[in-house]
Amino acid sequence: MAILPLIPPQKTPLRLLLLSTPVGPLGSGLGGGVEASVVNLARVLGQRGHRITIVAPLGSVLPDHSQVELVQMVGSFQPTAQTQPRLQPSEPFPVANSALANACEYVQAEQARYDLIVNFAYDWQPFQLTAMLETPLAHFVTMGSLLDVMDQVIAQTALQFPNRLGAYTRSQAETFRQTSLSDWQILGSAIDLQQYDYCDEPEGSLGWVGRISPEKGLEDAIAASASARRPLKIFGKIEDAAYWQSLTKQINEAPAPVNYCGFLSTPELQKALGSTQALLMTPKWIEAFGMVAIEAMACGVPVIAYRRGGPAEIVRDGQTGWLVQPDNIEALVSAIARIGEIDRRQCRQDAADLYSLTAWGDRFERWFYQIVSGMMSS
Ligand code: UDP
Repeated sequence: MAILPLIPPQKTPLRLLLLSTPVGPLGSGLGGGVEASVVNLARVLGQRGHRITIVAPLGSVLPDHSQVELVQMVGSFQPTAQTQPRLQPSEPFPVANSALANACEYVQAEQARYDLIVNFAYDWQPFQLTAMLETPLAHFVTMGSLLDVMDQVIAQTALQFPNRLGAYTRSQAETFRQTSLSDWQILGSAIDLQQYDYCDEPEGSLGWVGRISPEKGLEDAIAASASARRPLKIFGKIEDAAYWQSLTKQINEAPAPVNYCGFLSTPELQKALGSTQALLMTPKWIEAFGMVAIEAMACGVPVIAYRRGGPAEIVRDGQTGWLVQPDNIEALVSAIARIGEIDRRQCRQDAADLYSLTAWGDRFERWFYQIVSGMMSS
């Protein structure tokens, strides 16, 4: 009888299925920072020899598809959780023939081909699948607590399936009051530093980057830059057209130019963002992470942010930007006046030291091996 060599699970390449956000195709911008997370994770783990498949809505585009299989799902997009009422009726997110429902069917049918499935969808449906699959299903939760139905399925998963929940930040995990911090893997986020050029000599504008949607609080950035009499450049997808319209008067009346530059690809965005004096981050909600903070820092751009949620864990006050009292325009204006005190090289350095893809990949890999080896020994 042949004796098979014992391969420690830590060394075995994994077959991973990543279930992408169902609110829009990869590359559309509708999925915000989650798109970057899915693509970055696929890239870093693919480079390590793991076999990666991504399931994502039809129309998805991968910037680097060489090592990644992309399975596209037909069907309508899921509404974003932040646009839904917190208290949902018994059938939340009832989207017929949705890309997500089709993706869940795919997961059920194809699960045997994978060692682990990782869900990035902020939706109750993939959570319900956890108990129905033979293959372990882990959930990387991409937003804080927004819906009662999500709080419930997340708490239930924590109870029934220990070690299956991942989050970007501590502040995000803490919003789920029915769980404790020990139920979560706090994994942070990362960027490929090579995609971002350091810019030492900015022009005079301030920058604002994000989905244009009420929870992102663009009106506060416009008010602060107007009050500071600095030009403002806005980058991002107009997700809520009515909200954007509501800002027209404020933009037109600002004493310094406010320019909407559209939704840019990463290479275009980093170039334009790099030449700004500072990034303003003025979200009204508890931002789970805030990819734009580390992207700006990678370009050498200091970040002025409200002291809450992810940005408050990323920005080092007085070192890589300023953290100010939330919802306080005057505090933003005071911080704008002190941008010159921040060393742009330190911003780049923090991005390199704290948000590398390598360290991020290590954290995910460790988590995945814990789950897979736990399944093998159970
Ligand atoms: N983004 C982009 N082009 C733009 C504006 C934004 O690619 O013109 C990307 C940005 O680089 C970041 C994401 O959109 O990766 C926004 O992510 P973040 O975590 O800041 O916010 P979210 O939308 O997830 O709440």
